[in-house]
This record gives sequence, C-alpha cells and structure tokens, in this order.
Amino acid sequence: MESKQQKTLLPNGGYPMHTFEDLKERYCTYITSPDDRKMIEDAYQFAKQKHEGQFRKSGEPYIHHPIEVAYILASLQSGPATIASGLLHDVVEDTDATIEDIQKRFGEDVAKIVDSLTKIQRMKLSRMTAADFEAEDHRKIFLGMANDVRVIIVKLADRLHNMRTLDSLSPERQKGLAKETIEVLTPICHRLGISTIQSELEDLSLKYLEPEKYQAILDLVNKKYENRKHSLEALKKRIADIMLEHKIPVKIESRVKSIYSIYRKMYQKGHNFDEIYDVLAIRIITKTVINCYEILGIIHSTYKPIPGRFKDYIAMPKPNLYQSLHTSIVSGDGSIFEVQIRTEEMDQVAETGVAAHWKYKEGGHYNACLLYTSPSPRD
Ligand code: MN
Repeated sequence: MESKQQKTLLPNGGYPMHTFEDLKERYCTYITSPDDRKMIEDAYQFAKQKHEGQFRKSGEPYIHHPIEVAYILASLQSGPATIASGLLHDVVEDTDATIEDIQKRFGEDVAKIVDSLTKIQRMKLSRMTAADFEAEDHRKIFLGMANDVRVIIVKLADRLHNMRTLDSLSPERQKGLAKETIEVLTPICHRLGISTIQSELEDLSLKYLEPEKYQAILDLVNKKYENRKHSLEALKKRIADIMLEHKIPVKIESRVKSIYSIYRKMYQKGHNFDEIYDVLAIRIITKTVINCYEILGIIHSTYKPIPGRFKDYIAMPKPNLYQSLHTSIVSGDGSIFEVQIRTEEMDQVAETGVAAHWKYKEGGHYNACLLYTSPSPRD
C-alpha cells in the first residue's frame, strides 16, 4: 500500500497505464459483433486524431485519459455505445469536433450520450460553491440532464480516472473535486449499484478530504489483516474442503471493507474499530440460489453464528438490486469473520449494478426508472 507522503511521478497517478490494445483485449472478451468492435475502433481513431497535440496537466498525451475511461467502462462490461462514448466524451468540449460530426460517424445513440456529457461538463459543477446549490439539488440537476443512464456511467468512469490522477492539481481543486464526488457522485453510484466505482471514489475522496483519518484507518486495516491473515486463510481452506465433501461448487474469495465504509462506522455512527465485525469477510460464490442456502446451513451448523448478524438479501434484495446472504461467524481460533454467500450472477450485479445490464436486454435501453428510486439504507 502506498504511504500518505508518497508523491507519485507516474503520469497515471501510479496506476497501471493501458493502451488501446489493452482496452480492445478487454472488451473483445464480451463484445463479439464485428460492427460493434469496428465502431469502438473508429471512435478511438477519431478521438486520437482530434486530441492530437493536447496534453493533460500531468504532461501526458491527452488521449490516455479517454482510453482509461473506456477501460474502466469495459471492466464494468458496459455496452459498445457506452465504451465508444467514453472514448469520445471530451472531443466536443475540448476539440473542433461537433455533435453533428459524431452523429454522422457514430449515429444518433452515441451522439446523444456525448451531447449530454458535454452539457454536464459545461455546468462545471465542482466550481459552484456550496452556497449555490445543496448537494441534493446537484444530484437532481445532474440526473435530469442525463436522460440515459449510460451518460451517468460514462461520467462516473470519467470522474474515477480524474480522481485517480488528482496529484497534478492544486490542493483547493483536489478538495473541491473530492467534496463534489462524495456529495453528488457516490450517492448516484450507490443507487445504481455500481459498488466497485463507488468504493474506489469514496476512498479516493476521503484520502484528499481527511488525509490523517484515511491513513489511520488504512494502518488499522493493514494491522488487522496481518494479524488475521492465517486465520482467514485457514477458514477459507476449511470451508472449501467441507463444500467439496458436500459436492457444492464454490469459489471462495476474501474481501477487505473499504476505508470509507469503516470511516462512516467510526466517525458517523460512533463505533470503535474493534466493534466492526465485517472488516474482513469471506465471499463464497456458487451456482444456484439453492446452493446459497445449502452453504448457509452447512456454515451455521459448523461455526457459531453471531446473533443479529444474519441478513437475507436474496429473499429481500436491496433497492439497488443487491442480493447476497450475510452472516458473521466465530472461526476455529475465535476470530470473527463475516461470510457473504451469493451466485455468480448476483456477484456481477453486486459489483457493477446496472452497468452490465445491457447484456440481459440486448439492443434495448437501460431502465432510467432505477435512477429515481429512493436511496437505499446502507449497511
Ligand atoms: Mn474527461
């Protein structure tokens, strides 16, 4: 893990930098139509040509930014028009290209997404002061301008790459963007169920807004992980063996709670770090819903569950469609771990929310109604 003091000199904020070839490899794993693939390649060529001679504040060629944005979108398994829009999202705002150019080359669908993104960009949300708008107004304006959920997904990917590469901006701009991210964008991630982007954006924002607290929590988590690592691995191994005996197919992962979620529990809900049971969790991914309940039964008959910690989000999904069984158990050596049990499909939805939905509704539009459901309580 990087230390607080570390000033990175890498152009991409210390993150691995991707080429168009990397991006192509990623989306070709799930986008198979030759027409779709060709459209994405054309979008790259067009963006590259238009951004030629432009550089980011960090000094790197500008095209790296849209490639990274598109790479984040491909990691969420977004659809072809979304990825093409990611590559093109800054060309109308920052080059001589017009929306008509985009429409002629890439069609109405991509042109509409890029047009909405350009309008949102022109609002310069983050330069407004708190006195101008409350965060809730921000969210409403933002959602109102994005008539298609794909616009929001591209905007979230854009912000994620910008937050990863904040080091070249002034401290005031860093804090301004971090504040807007936490007040306006991460609640939207939560509603859409895009938890991978949500937790990375939250952690990055906290790092700039509360650097000391961020570092202190990171140190506590690292220490806990070091202390419990052997116990965690032993539990994973034991559960894998038991499931093999019962012939239930499983993939077992471990997950560490995000720094921001721990921050909320400690500073907004007043818990001690040691009272947070789910800092380290085991995630069991299986095939069917019946498998999930079988696994739960086996876990509860093998390990003592902690009272009040069992939640059935399979029978009762969260409003953002999250499904999983959660329980906390006492492992062989007395350490407490959370166990999360879900199917592969539930796991995909839990990580990427609506971003991957185009696959289930090929050719159809996203369901914009999801945006207007009331925010779900967070665990
Ligand atoms: Mn951008």
